[in-house]
Parts: sequence; structure tokens; C-alpha cells
Amino acid sequence: MKRVSWDMTRRCNYQCPHCWYASTWEIERGKVLEADPEQWIAHWSDWYGRYGGMNIIVSGGEPFMQEGFVRILEGITPMHRVDIITNGAGIPDDFIARVNLTNVSLSISFYPYLVDDAKVMARVRECISKGIRISVSYIGYPHPKQWDFDRIRRYRQQFKEMGCTDFTITSYWGNFEGHAYPDAYTDEDRRFMMDYSDDAPRLTLSAKMESSRGRLCWAGGTCAVINPRGEILRCGASEVVIGRVFDPQFRLGAEPEACLVDYCKCGEYDTALSVA
Ligand code: SF4
Ligand code: SF4
Repeated sequence: MKRVSWDMTRRCNYQCPHCWYASTWEIERGKVLEADPEQWIAHWSDWYGRYGGMNIIVSGGEPFMQEGFVRILEGITPMHRVDIITNGAGIPDDFIARVNLTNVSLSISFYPYLVDDAKVMARVRECISKGIRISVSYIGYPHPKQWDFDRIRRYRQQFKEMGCTDFTITSYWGNFEGHAYPDAYTDEDRRFMMDYSDDAPRLTLSAKMESSRGRLCWAGGTCAVINPRGEILRCGASEVVIGRVFDPQFRLGAEPEACLVDYCKCGEYDTALSVA
């Protein structure tokens, strides 16, 4: 099953200091392709005809802040599996009623340094009780209330006991108190990430433990990224544009190609590791 990361919006209900877009929100919002929900449903219907059911990973911004998002889900979940990367705070009530939940999962970005952890956990428990598959993504932001090994171990255990499928740790790329991350992670930090993340192979590249340059990678073939401008990229990290949405001539690549960058920071590379 091909996998597409759809970075759909630059709207968000949070303003996290660790966000990729913390200093560029306004510029980013000005570049977003405005399209009607029905156009997106037609696009995904077209790709269903070309590639069959796909695994679409929707991110942003916060996807639930995008106007018409539940309508888009209602239209595409009969065809494709959709994983929504969300902070969990803006999930509307009609989401559960209108969407094919067997084809939906949520990946909750959990930021206890910013939010009420008990409230988020209660929301996760409620969604699991409705039959929604949930995984948790935990960013290694070096704030003392976020990057605390004992707390992380406890959260991991609590989420697993609730029935969450995965608990993954992602590396932080940016500055904190004068230090540039991920370079500033200590060996102990890196060991902890590898031991307590369910997706350790991604971290070897995104936490700069290994270089990705020159690896043969299927990005652009079995997986791709759609950015908010409507450009189709080989992957988020290399930013090589291979086409545009709504182009009936566009086709995903048929061969793996060498990676052009040193570090695969966004995590589209697990397909690469499987064929390299
Ligand atoms: S919830 Fe996500 S997209 Fe929104 S500000 Fe935080 S990191 Fe950025
Ligand atoms: S290894 Fe990572 S950065 Fe390189 S092309 Fe593949 S997905 Fe992109």
C-alpha cells in the first residue's frame, strides 16, 4: 500500500514554541492552496483509481482546524486509510458520527509541558472506547517538563495500558536555551530515545545518528508528500518537487533513487530502510 503524507494546513489552535513553523506561521499561511473539500475528494478518488487504497497521513498545522476536514474524511475513508496527526484538542463530535472509523487512526502529539496531561489522556481514553486506533508521538523537546525520563516512562506505560498501539519519540530540530538540537542531545538522551521509542530506526536518521545521503530510497515512488501549496514532494526532508495535485498526468516514480540530503529529519524514510 502506497503512503502519502498530506501536510494539509497551516491553521492551528496551539502555538507551540517547538513548532517547525513557530517563526513563520504568517508567511506559511499565505502560501496555502485553497481548495474545496469536493476537489480533494475528487483528487483522492482519482489516486484510488491509479494506485488503489493508500495510507494517507494527514498533518499540519492542526487538521481538525481546516474547514471542511470532516467532509473530506467522510468522502475519502471509504477508499483510503487515514492517519491523522493531531494535538487532540479540536476533534469535533461529528467526526465519530460521519467518518468510516475502521479506516481511521489518530496519532496524538502529546506535549505535557504545554497542556493538561490528564485532560488529553481522558480524551484518548474516550476515543479508544469508540474503537479508534490511537498512537502517541512524544517530541524530545528539552523543556524540563517534556524531556524528563521518569515522566516519559510513566506516560508510555499509561498510554500502553489504555490500549494505544505505539508510543514513538521524535527528535526536536531547533534551538533551546542557546543549544542547537538535535546536535545537543547527549549520548544518554539518544540511548533513552532508542530504548523507549517504538520506532527506533527512524530516530537513527532524524536524531543524526546516521547519514541518509546516497541511500537508495523509494520516496517519490511508494511514498510521497503533498505540501500545503499543493506541490507533490519526493519527501519532506529533501523537498524535491515531483509534481502538483489535480494534475491528471502526474504519476509516482517506478524506481528507488539515491537520497540527496544528509539527514532524513521528517520520517518518510522507513520505506528507504526496507530497500537500501
Ligand atoms: S500543535 Fe503542532 S502544528 Fe500546532 S503549533 Fe503545535 S507543533 Fe505546531
Ligand atoms: S532517505 Fe529520507 S530524506 Fe532521503 S530521499 Fe528518502 S525519505 Fe527523503
